[in-house]
Amino acid sequence: MAIKNAYLKELLARVEKRNQGEPEFIQAVTEVLMTLEPVVEKRPDLVEAGVLERIVEPERQIIFRVPWVDDRGNVQVNRGFRVQFNSAIGPYKGGLRLHPSVNLSIIKFLGFEQIFKNSLTTLPMGGGKGGSDFDPKGKSDGEIMRFCQSFMTELSRHIGADCDVPAGDIGTGAREIGYMFGQYKRLRNEFTGVLTGKGLTYGGSLARTEATGFGLCYFTEEMLKANGTSFKGKTVVISGSGNVAIYAAQKATEFGAKVVTMSDSNGYIYDANGIDLACVKQIKEVERKRIKEYLVYHPEAKYAEGCKGVWTVKCDIALPCATQNEIDGESAKILVKNGCKVVSEGANMPSTPEAIEVYLENKLLYGPAKAANAGGVATSGLEMSQNSQRLSWTFEEVDEKLHGIMKSIFKACDDAAKTYGMEGNYMAGANIAGFLKVAEAMKAQGCV
Ligand code: NDP
Repeated sequence: MAIKNAYLKELLARVEKRNQGEPEFIQAVTEVLMTLEPVVEKRPDLVEAGVLERIVEPERQIIFRVPWVDDRGNVQVNRGFRVQFNSAIGPYKGGLRLHPSVNLSIIKFLGFEQIFKNSLTTLPMGGGKGGSDFDPKGKSDGEIMRFCQSFMTELSRHIGADCDVPAGDIGTGAREIGYMFGQYKRLRNEFTGVLTGKGLTYGGSLARTEATGFGLCYFTEEMLKANGTSFKGKTVVISGSGNVAIYAAQKATEFGAKVVTMSDSNGYIYDANGIDLACVKQIKEVERKRIKEYLVYHPEAKYAEGCKGVWTVKCDIALPCATQNEIDGESAKILVKNGCKVVSEGANMPSTPEAIEVYLENKLLYGPAKAANAGGVATSGLEMSQNSQRLSWTFEEVDEKLHGIMKSIFKACDDAAKTYGMEGNYMAGANIAGFLKVAEAMKAQGCV
């Protein structure tokens, strides 16, 4: 797919010129603009209001120094980021990624995607994202705490329960959120819902840990149902072995599928009998070790070095749950050749544009990240609601709300794709449905 509309082509050229050296951000913008062609033609009022020019430019981006002292007494310096992309429909909301690969391009692509994702949830949340090039791997608890405290010392000036509410992402789980929350509270002397993904003893929501993975499967099950099938009896390949991957594997198994792989950035495991999830949780959540350790408990399983190999495993459904651009065109072709009929994205932008072309050409059911993985932020929205009301809902209440939201997200994508003449293209549906709500709000609020 290439952009044909002259206005959008020119806009993309300006985005490329202004954001040189930011390939991930340009990739994310290109994908959205490509699918907005029919909207631009049908809604000249939004073009006139300059909504598109404004939506591709972050409202604010903050880059800061994060100094901390390691266990040997040496000073370390990392770089911190917070991109507050769009607040048209609510306070900025989006996770904090801690990974050595983090840079402005990655945070901007994630923040941009977050605008449309948050809009799809139906909850009042704007888009933002942040993080640091800090690598939590191999660090002691003390080092993690000192880093998180230093990071929050600066970030605290820019966020707040009614302004910007960060959450977890790669490398930021309950432990990191806890240290950051503690530091915010100490600096501000206030106990507010300034972060989500908090521990259950201090304002966290039940089912937040499970939400992205469960939500991915709820969305995928809806997509399968609409196309006359289901998870039952299917073989599923999952990449990653973090928060999203683990709970996607759990829900897919509950839905009657067999999950045969999981991976990390070193390699992947294949268990023909179906992954033993209790064992993965022990290795990843308790021991914080590498996925290779699975063979210690299950010597009959196989381990292969490298991440890409996971897409050569035969499956009916692929759920990428690790990182951006993990499925390229070549891997997508192998998936198709091996009979894969469904790709639904737990990770953000895990498929390259070439891979998406392969899915569309071969009529795969394709669940795009913005819609399919919105369950995490939706439940973060529910955590904000509970914090504001000083209430806690039960696991079942939150899970039921999450399920309802994922069903409505699928319906919104399906309906928008049909209305704009692209039936079955849920990527276009997600972009259009997510965009329209934000665009209407931006137009209503004037040129800000
Ligand atoms: P975690 O840190 O819990 O797990 C990430 C997993 O992906 C790990 O297994 C990790 O392996 C692997 N991984 C990370 N980077 C790479 C890489 N460059 N190459 C190969 N494998 C990699 O993160 P989450 O599970 O929270 O996040 C996974 C994805 O889901 C991300 O794209 C995130 O943005 C997205 N997401 C997360 C949400 C959430 O609620 N947590 C919400 C919506 C989207 P290793 O340990 O070796 O690094």
